[in-house]
Amino acid sequence: MKVLITGVAGFIGSHLADRFIEEGFYVIGLDNFLTGSPDNIAHLFGNKNFRFIHYNVVNFIYIADDVDIVLHFACPASPVDYIKYPIQTMKVNSLGTLNTLGLAKVKKARYVFASTSEVYGDPQIHPQKEDYWGNVNPIGIRSVYDEAKRFSESMTMAYHREHDIDTRILRIFNTYGERMRLNDGRVIPNFVYQALKGEDITVYGDGNQTRSFCYISDLVEGIFRASVMEGLDGEVINLGNPEEIKILDLAKKIVDKTGSKANIKFCEKPEDDPVRRCPDISKAKELLNWEPKISLDKGLENTIHYFKQKIF
Ligand code: UDP
Repeated sequence: MKVLITGVAGFIGSHLADRFIEEGFYVIGLDNFLTGSPDNIAHLFGNKNFRFIHYNVVNFIYIADDVDIVLHFACPASPVDYIKYPIQTMKVNSLGTLNTLGLAKVKKARYVFASTSEVYGDPQIHPQKEDYWGNVNPIGIRSVYDEAKRFSESMTMAYHREHDIDTRILRIFNTYGERMRLNDGRVIPNFVYQALKGEDITVYGDGNQTRSFCYISDLVEGIFRASVMEGLDGEVINLGNPEEIKILDLAKKIVDKTGSKANIKFCEKPEDDPVRRCPDISKAKELLNWEPKISLDKGLENTIHYFKQKIF
């Protein structure tokens, strides 16, 4: 069985490539290294079950091989990154989605789309279930990501309905772990880096906003199941950890776990930063028989260990 993963050099894409190879799949990985890094897949070069193509999927994709599953995971995912690359972010989730869906169509492959909890915007329903339509500012700075992902979801469903492609949309909530960039800009890499360096911990706003953090191995398990299981055609599934925490409490936890003397500094809250976010994962539990196993404490310890090795 062959899978094609776009964004293979990214945080999630590279872990997915590892998992599919471990399970006996052949992986064709594409990346243009906009935010991904060759370091994340260096260990796969030379593996007979891995082929890398340096490519920007906003351009037409030609692949000679048969492909059984196309996983479209290419996209800047940190707010810092997608605000820095607004047009590339929109292109990869429009032209890139179109091209990867077109590829799935000609290869008669299954299609798995990496969507996001950001499709719910600043949610007014809590926790967020798949049938919630969201509350997104269509012209705000985050819209380049949110609206592009929503467009991709719509296009994925259009291909499912019109061409009968076996599609699965996965709405991925905040995820963390090894292979996130030190300067990724997302909250866990920022706080861990700052704590380890003894720099001020930058809490945006009053820190009362919440997020729910899923450790990478749990997420990969959920994505793998959602990709290989039969009978999930056209499904939309939340994947995330429902353990919700205030950002200020997360900062304190990371200071505590690193034994850091860093101070907490309150900074301006970014525009349209969602106030609360927590997945309802009852659908994933039922359809995939999946739920996260790694606690935030354990996952943070692993992540801190990884960051220490990178920094010192
Ligand atoms: N955040 C923070 N300090 C930072 C980075 C992020 O307080 O240095 C906050 C941010 O305002 C948001 C939450 O942490 O409320 C999660 O931010 P992140 O960028 O990780 O992802 P998001 O969930 O907003 O997409």
